[in-house]
Amino acid sequence: MARVKVKPPARLARRPGDEELTIEQLKHVSLFANLSRPVELEQFPGTALLRRYEKGEQICRQNDPGWTAFYILTTKDLLELRQSQLKALVGQGEVGGQRAQELQQEIASLQSASDQKLPASDRLTPAASVHLADPANQQAGLGQSLRQSFSALLQRSPEKRSKQPGTLVEGELFGEMSCLYRIPRTATVMAERECHVLTFLRNILDKMYANKAFKDQVDSIYRQRVLELYLNQLPVFRDLPPEVFRSLRDRVELLPPLEPGDIICDEHERPDCMYIIRSGFVKLMKNSSYLLGDESIADWKGFCASLLAGEQESSGPRRKIWELLSQEPVRAVIRKAAQGAVPTADEKALLLYGLNDLLKQPKLQAHAEFKEAVQSPALSSLGKLPAGGKKWSQHQQICEFNRRLLGTFFPELLLPQTMPDPSGRILDYLASGDYFGETGVLCNTPRNATCVAYVHHGEGKAIHGRVELVRISKGLFDEIRNSCPPAEESVARVVEERNRSRESLMSLPVWQEHNLAARSERFDDLGLIQGQKLMLIDLDRCTRCDKCVEACVRSHHSHWWDKFLPSDWVEPSRDNRGRLFLDGPRFTHHSGSTTRNYLVPSTCRQCRDPICLVGCPVGSIHKGDNAQIVIEDWCIGCSRCAEQCPYGSIQMHAIGIVEKGGRGWTYGPSGSGPWLDAEMPFKFNRELREKHRNVKQIYLRRSFELTPAQSRASRSYRLQLLSLAPQFTVQFNGHKVLSQGVSEKAPTGKEIEALLVLEADASTVEVLPGELPPQPAVRVGHNLVEATVSPTANPDDTLLDLGLYAFSKPVVDPSMVGEFSQEVVTKKAVVCDMCGSQWGQQPACVNACPHDAAMRVDARSFFQLH
Ligand code: SF4
Ligand code: SF4
Repeated sequence: MARVKVKPPARLARRPGDEELTIEQLKHVSLFANLSRPVELEQFPGTALLRRYEKGEQICRQNDPGWTAFYILTTKDLLELRQSQLKALVGQGEVGGQRAQELQQEIASLQSASDQKLPASDRLTPAASVHLADPANQQAGLGQSLRQSFSALLQRSPEKRSKQPGTLVEGELFGEMSCLYRIPRTATVMAERECHVLTFLRNILDKMYANKAFKDQVDSIYRQRVLELYLNQLPVFRDLPPEVFRSLRDRVELLPPLEPGDIICDEHERPDCMYIIRSGFVKLMKNSSYLLGDESIADWKGFCASLLAGEQESSGPRRKIWELLSQEPVRAVIRKAAQGAVPTADEKALLLYGLNDLLKQPKLQAHAEFKEAVQSPALSSLGKLPAGGKKWSQHQQICEFNRRLLGTFFPELLLPQTMPDPSGRILDYLASGDYFGETGVLCNTPRNATCVAYVHHGEGKAIHGRVELVRISKGLFDEIRNSCPPAEESVARVVEERNRSRESLMSLPVWQEHNLAARSERFDDLGLIQGQKLMLIDLDRCTRCDKCVEACVRSHHSHWWDKFLPSDWVEPSRDNRGRLFLDGPRFTHHSGSTTRNYLVPSTCRQCRDPICLVGCPVGSIHKGDNAQIVIEDWCIGCSRCAEQCPYGSIQMHAIGIVEKGGRGWTYGPSGSGPWLDAEMPFKFNRELREKHRNVKQIYLRRSFELTPAQSRASRSYRLQLLSLAPQFTVQFNGHKVLSQGVSEKAPTGKEIEALLVLEADASTVEVLPGELPPQPAVRVGHNLVEATVSPTANPDDTLLDLGLYAFSKPVVDPSMVGEFSQEVVTKKAVVCDMCGSQWGQQPACVNACPHDAAMRVDARSFFQLH
C-alpha cells in the first residue's frame, strides 16, 4: 500500500468536554454519510469538534466572522456514535470504567427516546433558536439593512414558514453561508435544549460543496435563510402576502457562477430580468456600450426609410439586414416610421432591440452580402473577432465591429459621435446583497447601464474569483408586482431616486468630476474599492521617516519572556516580521479644487470580498473578531492565499529551527578552522575553487538555540537535507544522524530526511509505522550541527542545504492502515492583522506617523462612492 501523506492537524480552540471524533466516527455522522460523493475526511485532521450545549448557551454570535459551520447531530447520529465509542472501550477491556458507564447511561436514554417512535416530532423540536440583536444598536450599512430585513422576517407570523420561525432542528446545518460567502454571521444562535453540535472548518465545507447533492441542499438553505433576507430588502417585495413571497423565493433562479470580466447585461438591452448579487462584485458602467440607443439614430424617418428600402432590393447588404430583422412587430415599426409617423418610446425600443440583437452576433460579418464592407480597410483593421461574447471585452469587440459594419450601410443616419468611450464611465460597484437591473424591469425601458462581473485584481495581476447572481425574470417580477399593487409606489420612488442620482452624475461637467477619479479605470485597476481599511500614505505629507514601518515591526516583536511561556500563550503574531512595505502603486485623487497623491502600500486592505480566504487546504486563514485577516499557526505554508491575494499583502516566510536556504553557517577546508561565512544552499563554486585548491572535503557548521517554548511545542524535529555530494556526513551535537558514502547508491538530488528528538527523550520515543526511527540528537539550549561534504565536478551542484523543523506526531485514524508520513511545514503565511492583538486595536502604523500622512480608510466613503 502506498505511503499516505497526512497534513499536520488543525487546532480548533477547545473548551472542556469537547470531543475530537475519529475519521471513522465522523464518516458515520449523517451529514457526511449521506453525501453521494464521500469527502476524504482523512485529509482534514483536527478540523472538526463535537461540542455539547446546554439550554440557553450561545452557539454563535451575530456579526462575528464566520469561519466554522455547525451541524446539529440527530438522535440517531449520537446513538450510533456512543455505541461505537462503547464498543471501542469494551475492545480495550475498559468496560467497567467511568467513561463506559456514562456511555451506557447515555445510550439507554437515547434508545428510550428513539423507542418512543416519535422521530418526526423529535426532529421538529427546536434544538436551537435564531436571534437578532436590536437593529438600533447596530452600525449602519448593508449589514444593518440585512439585519432589519431578518428582523422583519422573524416577525412574520409563524404560519408563513413551514416550521416555527427562527428555530433549528436536529440534522440542520447552519453557519455555512458565512463560510461559503465570507460574510459575518447574520444572527445569534442559542441552544434551546441540550444538543450536540459538530463544529467544523471551512475546508471541509469547500470539499462538500463540490458534491452536487450537497450544493443543491446549500442552495435550498440559501433560498430560505439568505435570499429571503435579500428579497425582503426590496421595496416591491417587502409587503407581499406570505404565500406570494414564498413562491417568489422558490422560483427565482440561482445562476451558475460568473468569471471575472463576464458581461451580465449591456446598456440599451432589453430589460428581461433583474439581479441580486449572491457573492462577489458587479461593476456598473455608463456610455461604454456599442449597442444602439435612442440617441444613436439621427433621423428616425430617414433611417427607417433606408431600412425599408432593403425590402425592395433583390440582394445586397440592406436586403440582408431587412431579412435579418424578420420579426413582424419590428418591421411594422419600420414601415410606420418610414411613412413619417413619430414612433413612440416603446416602438423605438422594439426596433433598437432588434438591431442590437444583430450587433451582438459574432457571425454577422460572415454573411456574403457584407463581404465587401468587411474587407474594407476601416473594418479589416479591427482584427479577428472572437467566436463568442461571454467576456465584456469580447462582447465589446463584436459589437464595435458590427456597429461599424452597420454604419457603412447607413452613413449619416447612425451617429458616429454616439460611439462609446471604450472604457466607459464607472458608475458604481455593487456587492453581495445589492440588486440591479430593476429600473428597466419596472419601467419597461432599455437597460441604463452595462454590468460586468468585477475582476478582483491588483496592478497587472488578474486573479480568480467569481460572481454569483440570483435572477428574477421580468415575467415573474410582473406577476408578483401585479399581485401586490401598493408595493409599486415604493419601488417607483426608488427608481426615481436612482435615476436622479445617475443623471446628476452623468451631467457633471468634467471640471466638477471631483469624485469621478474614484470611478476611473485606475481606481478600478488598483482594486481600491475592496479596501475597508485601505492603507494610504499621503505623499504630500510623508517625509519618508519610516516611523510607520518601524511601528509595524515593533508591534510584532517577540519579548524576551516569551521563551518561558507555554507556546500557546505566546501571540502567534509576535514573530518579528513586519507587515508593511512602503512600496506599491500611486493614485491621484481630485477632490474639489485640491489634488492629493497617495501611495497604496502592499499591506492588507481588509477586502470587502477577501479572496485570500478561498481554498486554504487546512482552514487556517479566516477573519478575526475585528474583521482583520488572521492566519492560525497550523498554516502549512502552501502559499495559496499569498498567490490569491491580488495586492501582494501576504508574505510567505521560511520557518524552522534551522531554515533551509538560511544564513549563519561557516565553512572551512579543514575541521579545525579558520571558519568563513557560508550560506545555504552551499555550492563549491568557481570562486571557492580558486581559493581552496585540491580540497577533498569541506567542513560546514552552524550553531542554533532550541528555546524551552520550542521544545514544549514539539519534541520531534524533522531534518531535511539536499546534497549532490558523493560523500557527506551530518552530525548534531556529536551524534552522526545522516551520511552517504561513495559505495552507496548515487545521489539523485532528492531530499533526504531524518527524525531527531531531544537527547533527554531517548528512551521514551514512540516509533510510528512507516516513520523513520527517531535519533536522540537535539537538546534544549545551545546546539551545534556539523557537516562534511566532498565536492563534485560541477560548480553549480548543491553540496549542502539543510533545515530542521518542528514536527508533531501525525494525527491518523486507527482505521488507517499502512505507512504514513506527515507533511513538514517549512513556511508560514504572514499578513497584517490590523494590530488586532494590540491594546485598543489601533493600527500602530497610523498612530506612529508624526505627519498625519499614514491613514487607514474605507475606500467607499473616502472616495465618495456613496
Ligand atoms: S490579504 Fe488582505 S488585501 Fe489580500 S485579499 Fe486578503 S483581505 Fe484582501
Ligand atoms: S499558506 Fe495560506 S492557504 Fe496555505 S495553509 Fe497557510 S493560510 Fe492556508
